[in-house]
Amino acid sequence: MEIQKMRSGAAPCSVGEDELAQINRLSKRELCAEEVYTFAVRLCDNEVDRDGERFGEAALHALGRLFVGKSGIFDHNWSAEGQTARIYRTEICREEGVLTAAGDGYCYLKGYAYMLRSEKNADLIAEIDAGIKKEVSVGCAVARSVCSVCGAAAGTCEHVKGRRYGGKLCYTELCEPTDAYEWSFVAVPAQRQAGVMKRFGGGQSLKAFVEQTRDEAMLRELCALEGEAEMGRRYLAALRKEVSRLALLCDEGAQEDVFGGITQKLDEGELLEMKRLYEKRLGALLPVSVQLGAREGAREKDAQEAFLV
Ligand SMILES: [Zn+2]
Repeated sequence: MEIQKMRSGAAPCSVGEDELAQINRLSKRELCAEEVYTFAVRLCDNEVDRDGERFGEAALHALGRLFVGKSGIFDHNWSAEGQTARIYRTEICREEGVLTAAGDGYCYLKGYAYMLRSEKNADLIAEIDAGIKKEVSVGCAVARSVCSVCGAAAGTCEHVKGRRYGGKLCYTELCEPTDAYEWSFVAVPAQRQAGVMKRFGGGQSLKAFVEQTRDEAMLRELCALEGEAEMGRRYLAALRKEVSRLALLCDEGAQEDVFGGITQKLDEGELLEMKRLYEKRLGALLPVSVQLGAREGAREKDAQEAFLV
């Protein structure tokens, strides 16, 4: 799964001996301090973002290793000449006393990048020095994404992102980064929403496509469809639960976990058909039991009531 995220800011920093040694491990030829310009960027963090997703701290550490040596590009607002900068070192930084929406300590992945001090890069360097704010977009791949509440693969359970379950916020945790492709500076988009782009399985997702168009009406329509899809998933989850419940009532031999697994594989039509059959069977069973209860006294009747609950 490919992920693209944005974070703001770049800040110039000075080049010490250690820094230079690390840069020279990556550069084609030995560079001296006067030749290089270095700056720091906030690549990504562990905050739950507006898509209800976040990287865990372990994932940030893994990304830190993957980003070393990766080149960053600058959008056309800055340059048509394809200047690049390269990350030579990363670190995890903490902001004391700041908590994420998930309730743990906030931390972010900081990347240190260098570029050559050339005529071509002069304007760019001046802009970073001036603190002109640009966002940094990163692209990476993760092996898994899971629900923060139950740990199931994202999108397969009934938990809804943004809601709380027993005090626990539901979000998607992006796990096990496998590759970091790129990082780039882009102009801050007018619509924040348009800034995030995700591509799944190599191809482009519908959502990423719509976000790229920055078409308000299309985004609204997609949002509505997503809401409806979520409702559909909740309905199916409830239906599965109900069919399992009916099966257990009808058949004492049925095992709850086995049956739960079976219902996961059935589609809506099959579930409705099973529900109908079980209800019919239960309907045939119940009147007989009730008659027995009435005839044989209060004890059976109590049992029957407990059964109905
Ligand atoms: Zn879940």
